Amino acid sequence: MKNLARELIVTPDSKAKLSDIDPADTHGVNKAMGRERLERNCERLSVMQYLLYAEARRSLLVVLQGIDAGGKDGTIKHVMSGMNPQGVSVNAFKVPEGAEKRHDYLWRVHQAVPEYGKIGIFNRSHYEDVLVVRVHGLAPKSVWSKRYDQINDFERMLADNDVRIVKFLLYISKEEQAKRFRERLEDKSKNWKFSMADIKEREYWDQYMEAYEEMLRRCSTEKAPWYVIPANRKWFRNLAVSEIVLHTLEGMDLKFPKATVDLSGIQFE
Ligand code: AMP
Ligand code: MG
Repeated sequence: MKNLARELIVTPDSKAKLSDIDPADTHGVNKAMGRERLERNCERLSVMQYLLYAEARRSLLVVLQGIDAGGKDGTIKHVMSGMNPQGVSVNAFKVPEGAEKRHDYLWRVHQAVPEYGKIGIFNRSHYEDVLVVRVHGLAPKSVWSKRYDQINDFERMLADNDVRIVKFLLYISKEEQAKRFRERLEDKSKNWKFSMADIKEREYWDQYMEAYEEMLRRCSTEKAPWYVIPANRKWFRNLAVSEIVLHTLEGMDLKFPKATVDLSGIQFE
């Protein structure tokens, strides 16, 4: 099996051109192999999660971004399915409202950072504040353009305080998005997912791609790298994300903490 983490990472300070990436790429893996490997990864992830939870000193933050119908929900469902719900938190970030609107854009995000011992998944994130906000001019350029550096500072602070961060951009083609929208219209069980807003957003495809590229160029850092996941094939997307999350956890050298009492000679009836 290839090292997908190495193949899919956006190297810090690289030029990150999305048009150079094929969203249907499967990096030489075939579907049967991919499915089998995903199953094995989910088992390993469950073991690693148990270790992280037992150690309770560090956490892992998984950020998912992607265009509408890019597969963020599906990824969460398939990759996290083997995990113990007690050790996972999932936060979906929507249009800010209420108290969120009365604070700086990182306020709601910081509160959702997983506590030590846990894995936290962000379905959308603070990156919306340099994506949708930029594309629709929801804040002036003078405001959003400063956020790349602010985000890097914020993520560095988290990393220095034992929060590991991995970020995934699920990258599908415009045709694949159309196909998935059509499915949402045709399949009764998917009708609920359909929204007119998604059709409207589709008109801004090119602007989103530009905004993604700048995000990748400026915010893929050593401590909080971006990975671009070719996501037209759902099985490959799930496999790639599982490989990289697993690779990250395995690199953390997790260990069970020592028992808190001397266990030798303990007796009880
Ligand atoms: P969904 O993920 O499909 O439920 O949609 C959530 C919507 O909230 C998307 O259209 C996002 O672009 C939008 N959203 C998330 N965060 C922000 C933000 N900070 N500012 C404006 N819109 C946002
Ligand atoms: Mg949506």
